[in-house]
Amino acid sequence: MAHSETLTGLAALEARLRQDLELLELPAKSWVPPRTYQDQAVKDVVVIGAGMCGLAATAKLMLSGIDNVLALDAAPAGREGPWVTFARMETLRSPKTLQGPALGLPQLTFRAWFTAQHGSEAWQALDKIPKDQWMAYLVWYRHVLNLPVHNGVRLTGIAQAEGLIELQVEGFTTSKIYARRLVLATGRSGLGGFAVPAFLQGIDRAYWAHSADDIDFNALKHKRVAVIGAGASSMDNAATALEAGAGAVDLLIRRKEMPRINKMTGIGSQGVVHGMHQLPDAWKWKFVDYTAAAQTPPPRSSTLRVSRHANARFFLDCAIEAVKQEANGLLIETTQGAMRYDFLIAATGFANTFNGRPEFAAIAPHIRSWADGRYQPEMGAPRSGMTDAPDLGPAFEFRERVAGSCPMLRHIHCFNDAAMLTHGKVSGDIPAVSAGADRLARGIAASLFAEDVDSHFASLVAYDKPELEGDEWTDSTPLLKQENAL
Ligand SMILES: Cc1cc2nc3c(=O)[nH]c(=O)nc-3n(C[C@H](O)[C@H](O)[C@H](O)COP(=O)(O)OP(=O)(O)OC[C@H]3O[C@@H](n4cnc5c(N)ncnc54)[C@H](O)[C@@H]3O)c2cc1C
Repeated sequence: MAHSETLTGLAALEARLRQDLELLELPAKSWVPPRTYQDQAVKDVVVIGAGMCGLAATAKLMLSGIDNVLALDAAPAGREGPWVTFARMETLRSPKTLQGPALGLPQLTFRAWFTAQHGSEAWQALDKIPKDQWMAYLVWYRHVLNLPVHNGVRLTGIAQAEGLIELQVEGFTTSKIYARRLVLATGRSGLGGFAVPAFLQGIDRAYWAHSADDIDFNALKHKRVAVIGAGASSMDNAATALEAGAGAVDLLIRRKEMPRINKMTGIGSQGVVHGMHQLPDAWKWKFVDYTAAAQTPPPRSSTLRVSRHANARFFLDCAIEAVKQEANGLLIETTQGAMRYDFLIAATGFANTFNGRPEFAAIAPHIRSWADGRYQPEMGAPRSGMTDAPDLGPAFEFRERVAGSCPMLRHIHCFNDAAMLTHGKVSGDIPAVSAGADRLARGIAASLFAEDVDSHFASLVAYDKPELEGDEWTDSTPLLKQENAL
């Protein structure tokens, strides 16, 4: 291997990373006993989703010596997650300096990756991270750690197979994979899908799209477009429509005022990261409920990207009462009156109701949610998205609604946005994903170790490599006996 001092750019960074890993004795030695089931090798962990959370989780498991792992993603390589698909912002909202998925390794940070290629001056000059660059960084992260990711592989179903989990998959060498633990790093929509308001039910999809759909913005040229919502995605979609030549774009915003303060980001700290999941439930509820009520504002730059167009309008206090499909468009009845549009974009976010995805149909009815006892009326008014949040264990594992009804749930870990009420924001956003991956990997390591305790104890008993050869000392007891006899 070339010495790191003779290398430059990314090659030098990669050499430094290898050296750091060596200094830290990482990856740790492999320690989980292998298993087979029906003549097939069993995976210790399968991670579904190789977006940022799936990559961080896979990396942390591998570094912890749990290396019989597979990460599967339905998307083609380099197109996982939102960044180069439906994310329509120019840059990330997050500050460029965040550790992100680097797992405490300085050479694995975005900053190290960027600086290695473009230098320190370019780093100083960089404002926010362009989204395509963030995707390129994640691609590098996966390659430099040699993570076992398979793309074009979709999980289509889950079943119990004795003590294991049977994964039904499409696009892989086998149609079934057996795993001891399953991590669902399936992203924002987590276990559900798009949140679609009731007034859009039955409206022809030719007239509306969800903000995370693949939208043909060129088709919106000269058209009247309505965008519902006041979050980051509404701004990004409105701006993209305006830049594509839309005739007019109206933001229909139910709230009387734009949310302007990013509350949870404002109080971000290691206390929040490590303390939130240990708080009593009433406190967890209070934090998440308050944040949901306050709402997260869209970034200033995204809002300006819309408002700089003369044909963009912001309608506040403009709740939608009904949407009617007409011969050539939509009639939208709002609290501010009726308006006609050619197309509507619903930036209405995602739902985690477990029922939106066929691949989770077998487990969905058994998953215990906060509504199943963890939520108490004295915490405050019930809020959808919170009462239906899964009630998770300390390593993000699901719990059964009825004991014994679906035992594999305790081996299925919900490492996505749906975990927020139980665990805080450690399995979705960039700032604390390393802490989340650490919590997950420790929990999985402990539970695999406990499950294999017989085998580990047998290894203890069988271990017979001497440290002492027996020639390092002489036994003086006979001398003592002689002395006592005198
Ligand atoms: C538009 C947008 C902008 C964001 N900007 C920021 C930001 O600036 N800062 C910040 O901190 N956070 C941001 N976030 C939030 C968060 O960082 C992202 O959502 C991030 O992508 C989360 O990573 P993830 O791995 O959880 O999910 P994703 O990146 O969405 O990855 C999930 C993966 O799971 C795969 N998958 C799902 N189901 C299956 C299946 N059945 N079989 C196989 N594969 C499957 C998908 O193909 C996908 O690649 C943003 C989110 C969005 C949507």
